[in-house]
Amino acid sequence: MRHTPTRADFDHYMVPNYAPQQRIPVRGEGSRLWDQQGREYIDFAGGIAVNSLGHCHPVLVEALTRQANRLWHLSNVYTNEPAIELARCLVDRTFADKVYLCSSGGEANEAALKLARRWAHDHHGEHKHRIVSFSQSFHGRTFFTVSVGGQPKYAQGFGPVPGGIVHGEFNNLDSVRDLIDDDTCAVMVEPMQGEGGIIPATPEFLQGLRDLCDNFDALLIFDEVQTGVGRTGSLYAYQQYGVTPDILTSAKSLGGGFPVGAMLTTDHIAPAFAIGTHGSTYGGNPLASAVALAAIEFIDTPEVLEGVKRRHGVFREHLEEINRKHGVFREIRGMGLLIGAEMAPEYEGRAKDILPLAIEEGLMALIAGPNVLRMAPSLVIPEADIAEGMARLERAVARLAEGQ
Ligand SMILES: *Cc1c(COP(=O)(O)O)cnc(C)c1O
Repeated sequence: MRHTPTRADFDHYMVPNYAPQQRIPVRGEGSRLWDQQGREYIDFAGGIAVNSLGHCHPVLVEALTRQANRLWHLSNVYTNEPAIELARCLVDRTFADKVYLCSSGGEANEAALKLARRWAHDHHGEHKHRIVSFSQSFHGRTFFTVSVGGQPKYAQGFGPVPGGIVHGEFNNLDSVRDLIDDDTCAVMVEPMQGEGGIIPATPEFLQGLRDLCDNFDALLIFDEVQTGVGRTGSLYAYQQYGVTPDILTSAKSLGGGFPVGAMLTTDHIAPAFAIGTHGSTYGGNPLASAVALAAIEFIDTPEVLEGVKRRHGVFREHLEEINRKHGVFREIRGMGLLIGAEMAPEYEGRAKDILPLAIEEGLMALIAGPNVLRMAPSLVIPEADIAEGMARLERAVARLAEGQ
């Protein structure tokens, strides 16, 4: 009989860059998961804001299996129907005229940053290469994206970092006015900081960035890897803010659990990626594209997007009720189904202590930094699962408050 993999095997065989939970989930359906011992969990984590339609949603299973029986991969020496359909779908539903497909958020951001640099280089010359980003921002783990990201610990210890990158303070336009100049090629920002603590940008901040970019002929890049594809209650968050970027990146919810990423831009900028300037073997893979197309078509409907907004209210009510009883949170915030609960001063830094307690109670949740409990469930999570998940969360929070 084949050996059943254990958590100890993980430590034995894997590079030690992760510290996963002890329990190993083996099956999921909707917003419920089961582990090797058959224990059940409600999923408020959604694979870190990825499983936009929960686990094994029939629409995605159908799209994937249909494509799996037709064609898996060609490379970009050929194009394929699902990739073209996905690109057209994204163009039809956003500001964009052109799309670059890849397999992850980090890759989409890497492409966005290279495109911005290349565009500025071609239109203005070598000097225009500076990138403005923000403290606490997160843009991926490639060397360029960790350097642009605002959490220095992720970029340190790997030798010289790429130059020409500066960091302002999120939601502080004055800090950007001090940094931006004629040598700036791009400003990169998350409309709502995800990993940095679930902090929505103010509308004035995003509009101010738009104006500054226009004044200095710099490109505005929205990293919507976490906020995109229905997560905040609109297809992309920029559509609610009414501020349009020049480049937008998407991944996570885009594939509903299948690895895919996309960079969207305009006809004005896209030509800077001329033949041979950039590429990816898997970019536009037919399986990934077929799933992403099905996910967008399902999610970008009034029923699903209204449902996200309605569930936001339900999450908030439950969390406020838990907080009335136990007083562990200082603030509950977020948009749509990307929700953060910041810990009260007495529980400073202890959001991470809730996770193992929640797992024991049968709930998967997330953190965003040590001080914010984060939830990013399926966009179609049934209200019964929200209620049951919140009952489990309350038991975990009570245990934290009782000091066990
Ligand atoms: C997760 C995330 C990324 C990185 O995406 P990967 O698929 O892990 O490479 C980039 N930006 C934001 C805002 C993210 O939340």
